[in-house]
Amino acid sequence: MSFSALGLSDQIVRAVTARGYTEPTPIQSRAIPVVLSGQDLLAGAQTGTGKTAGFTLPILHLLSNKIVKRSPTGKIPIRALILTPTRELAAQVEESVRMYGRHLPLQSMVIYGGVNINPQINRLRGGVEILVATPGRLLDHVQQGRLDLSKVEILVLDEADRMLDMGFIRDIRRILALLPKERQNLLFSATFSNEIKSFASTLLNQPVLVEVAGQNATADLVTQRIFHVDRDRKRELLTHLIKTHSWYQVLVFTRTKHGADRLVKQLHQDDIVAMAIHGNKSQAARTRALGKFKDGSLQVLVATDIAARGLDISELPHVVNYELPNVPEDYVHRIGRTGRAGSSGEAISLVCVDERKFLSDIEKLIKRSLPQEIITGFEPDPRAKPEPIQVGRQSKHQPRRGGNSDRNYAGKPSSVATPSKLPSKPQKPQLNKSIITKSRNPN
Ligand code: AMP
Repeated sequence: MSFSALGLSDQIVRAVTARGYTEPTPIQSRAIPVVLSGQDLLAGAQTGTGKTAGFTLPILHLLSNKIVKRSPTGKIPIRALILTPTRELAAQVEESVRMYGRHLPLQSMVIYGGVNINPQINRLRGGVEILVATPGRLLDHVQQGRLDLSKVEILVLDEADRMLDMGFIRDIRRILALLPKERQNLLFSATFSNEIKSFASTLLNQPVLVEVAGQNATADLVTQRIFHVDRDRKRELLTHLIKTHSWYQVLVFTRTKHGADRLVKQLHQDDIVAMAIHGNKSQAARTRALGKFKDGSLQVLVATDIAARGLDISELPHVVNYELPNVPEDYVHRIGRTGRAGSSGEAISLVCVDERKFLSDIEKLIKRSLPQEIITGFEPDPRAKPEPIQVGRQSKHQPRRGGNSDRNYAGKPSSVATPSKLPSKPQKPQLNKSIITKSRNPN
């Protein structure tokens, strides 16, 4: 199957070929014909599957095939609106729109919060056909009377599950009320909770359902490993892994913004170049860190879940869960940063005694047990007692964890990583020799 066989115009196929794609990914070959036919689409696909081109390419085709007159004021109407949960994702999607649409006379722009609104206002004055936006800033523009969404022909909700998780549902409903009733709707979601299903049923009109990979299935190309380690030796182990393997590009996840900042400082002390990306950083700082990470000048990017959502960093070789997420779905999203669109990657989780319940929740969700290892010199203390974990973010779909409730589960370790399965004393190296070093013995 080729891109032109899907019915895309030559200009689009040329741009895609120049990008180096030879054939469509599964989500692309299934979603593109549906979008081209004008039907509503409900797509189950996570980041890394090529979903962005799955909606961007047919939208470009449809819009460029139908000329629309400028309004009496001479302004081009907004014809496609793409909503994303995060600023980074919005920026990446719009970059894709521009890249795939480079041979077409269509204008696009991105609007998101955290940056000066004035350049966005100026740009909107000229009019754009394709607008990519995060919901909050979009509504700011609407409130100022700068946006007319009454001519939107196609609406995309990208990563809809995360948008609902992040509490955007009311904003989205307000935006939907501004759109014409007659339009095509495309909803992309990595997971299908009941909330997403009921939201989709109110939004979509007889949608075609397209799903790639099982729900919450973790990419087969990603090697996943669990390293058990004491909580206060994680940083040392991370430095050890980075240095012994000369990892040049590693995305590290922490649960909290504060934890991300602290880890960056500690890595600096170990002479490792690192930057953090999280919600308390200015948009400029986030963009700068991401840019450096992408161009290879930043070795380690430390991120929280929300900041990292949807980041497109091609062929990322290593993802480290410095702390396991308390929301198991976040594990799937995190490791989706590696092993993307055909390239293989490695996802390593550093797990201490406090996180065993998180681990068992993750294994339940992905329906498999993950290989567990212990690195020589970093054997966890078998007498260590679990401590409550401060959780950084709460999914609305998850029961509240953290605080005192952690004590409850922590007292009852999961069946996956019970103390009995951990060594009762420092053990001989297990598994991957390339990771094991004889550098130190804690005794
Ligand atoms: P996405 O899931 O849209 O974030 O895309 C994931 C990655 O796959 C991005 O780096 C894209 O550039 C890449 N990609 C998208 N489509 C293809 C394709 N047909 N062939 C190879 N790589 C692709």
